[in-house]
Amino acid sequence: MTENPLLATWTTPFGVPPFDHIREEHFPPAFDAAMAAQREEYAAIAADPAPPSFANTIEAMERAGSLLNRVAATFFNLAGSRATEALQAVERDIAPLLARHNMQLALDPGIFRRVADLHARRAALGLAPDQLRLLDRTHMSLLRCGAALDEAARARLTEISSRLATLHTRFGQNVLADENAWHMALAENDLDGLPDFARAAARQAAAARGLAGYAITLARSSVEPFLTFSTRRDLRETAWRAWVARGALHPERDNATLVREILALRAERARLLGAADHAEYRLADTMAGHPDAAEALLRAAWEPAKRRAAEERAELAALARAEGHHGPVEAWDWRFWAERAQKAKHDFDGAALKPYLELEAMLRALFDTARRLFGITLEERTDIPLYHPDVRAFEVKDAAGGHVGVFLLDNFARAEKRSGAWMSSFRVADALDGRVAPIIVNNNNLAKSAPTLLSWDDARTLFHEFGHALHGLLSTARYPSQSGTAVLGDFVEFPSQVMEHWLSVPETLRAHARHHATGEALPEAMLAKLLAARNEGQGFATVEYVASALIDLALHRHSSPEALDLAAFEDAFLAEIGMPEAIGLRHRPIHFGHLFAGGGYAAGYYFYMWAEVLDADGFAAFEEAGDPFHPDLAAKLKAIFAAGDTADPMALYIAFRGRQPQVNALLRKRGLLPAEAA
Ligand SMILES: [Zn+2]
Repeated sequence: MTENPLLATWTTPFGVPPFDHIREEHFPPAFDAAMAAQREEYAAIAADPAPPSFANTIEAMERAGSLLNRVAATFFNLAGSRATEALQAVERDIAPLLARHNMQLALDPGIFRRVADLHARRAALGLAPDQLRLLDRTHMSLLRCGAALDEAARARLTEISSRLATLHTRFGQNVLADENAWHMALAENDLDGLPDFARAAARQAAAARGLAGYAITLARSSVEPFLTFSTRRDLRETAWRAWVARGALHPERDNATLVREILALRAERARLLGAADHAEYRLADTMAGHPDAAEALLRAAWEPAKRRAAEERAELAALARAEGHHGPVEAWDWRFWAERAQKAKHDFDGAALKPYLELEAMLRALFDTARRLFGITLEERTDIPLYHPDVRAFEVKDAAGGHVGVFLLDNFARAEKRSGAWMSSFRVADALDGRVAPIIVNNNNLAKSAPTLLSWDDARTLFHEFGHALHGLLSTARYPSQSGTAVLGDFVEFPSQVMEHWLSVPETLRAHARHHATGEALPEAMLAKLLAARNEGQGFATVEYVASALIDLALHRHSSPEALDLAAFEDAFLAEIGMPEAIGLRHRPIHFGHLFAGGGYAAGYYFYMWAEVLDADGFAAFEEAGDPFHPDLAAKLKAIFAAGDTADPMALYIAFRGRQPQVNALLRKRGLLPAEAA
């Protein structure tokens, strides 16, 4: 038998995984070996006869598990973006084993004794600030896993973690299966209203399913343009109803049952750990600190957003009436009339903009922004093995030409890829034993066509995910646990969201937004209209988002989730908050992957708005300075990207901004302040 490539030394350029040699069946034995190796490393730390020191305990824990990190990073990245049946089967098996393994390490009494001893003596250890924070947070993270509880409670917590991992995996796989199972086949005469790019994407989607003609799928990049442009109200309704039913399209994939069990287990875990509910437990380890603080922010935006949405709906209804469509504006009408309203009000045409937002041009805009702000360059490499022909690799270099890291870019939607856009890493940066360079990946779900023309939203997503990527790439943290995006949950969206602002910088668009066929620059009149229209529809967008964030908190504060009737809860909740008719939740619980396909954003969908307070206020610093590339501010911003979790996020923000953030910047950015206060 040949050697398992996952366990061998990687001789690929920059140590990228040897994707061309890795097969699904390599993962189970590699996980076994890597978990065993980490268990031995931990056992050696716990059994060390020398008294605990920062080096022989905390730093040794940071070094442990490097093989497992490598195997798991490779696996979960592939499970997200190339989820073959075989890989999904491995995921169902491995997720609970891995969760159990991680809990057993965290609950090891020998390890906890050493960490607790160090923590009690922390002031006398002569530690640097990053080390002191690492010790504090390592200690707290063990406590939050239950390390100080009795044996029965620790055993139950391990069971809960393992079961949750199984449920998260099934939830995510069900959504993916629903998205793949459904399509709406269209003939030539069903395409009324669709611009060329949407027709091309629909033809591509049909071809990918072996069909003639056209197809609309439940990928956001397929269904949203259809809802925006199709003049066929009946087909829009069909598509919309299927889209919001993801997670419940088939009785065998009913996610409502999974949600109930997940919520019940999380609530039980929170109570074992001394919190009232999961939201209180989760938010104790965030900038917000408590669910009340998160909810207060969401509620501050809620009423102004509803007022604005009601005005928007009245505008849309008036426009519809003027075009001879009587009757109410329903959820499947909103995007359609909003698009027309933009045209009528700002003379702005989203479809006419797209030829100027070609993918390659927007990548040049993105990379140029990173160069001007942070002094890095990206060079495409073709000598690196990749896991799919659509994936591209770039070497990132600093101003002196030194190697910073590798950036992988996986742009297109396909059947084996989960929906949405995300950043992840194959290897995080650290400097514990000499610098380890990061390997970072961005996934998007753009509809593939030639050329690939982006919507304004697509381009913003590109900037957003690259902001996360820069957070990973620019990390100078010494310890892996503090590297890049390993920051408090409600701070993690700051680097990504602040990057979005540079897409709207006129000189960026003037330089890079060029017509894909003619090379003509974006006409100044169109640029002016775009900038005037870009905050249109913020009532709708804010309602859609805030309602999802509020229901997330409500579900995770529920006192008896084991008896939850999810559909009834959803209806009652929407009535209670006064959800505007004709706006759906951006994410309904049955397909809300942020909450239920993993635990990271559970009770944390508010993270985006929390971070938006910072990004709106933070970008305003550049506006006040009158230079979007102000060198001094850019250097201070880079320091936040570089710091990772080596310091308290509010302290990092204040070092950049010179003061605490102000909430009004967010409301102003979304156009939700009354005119006189704006
Ligand atoms: Zn993000």
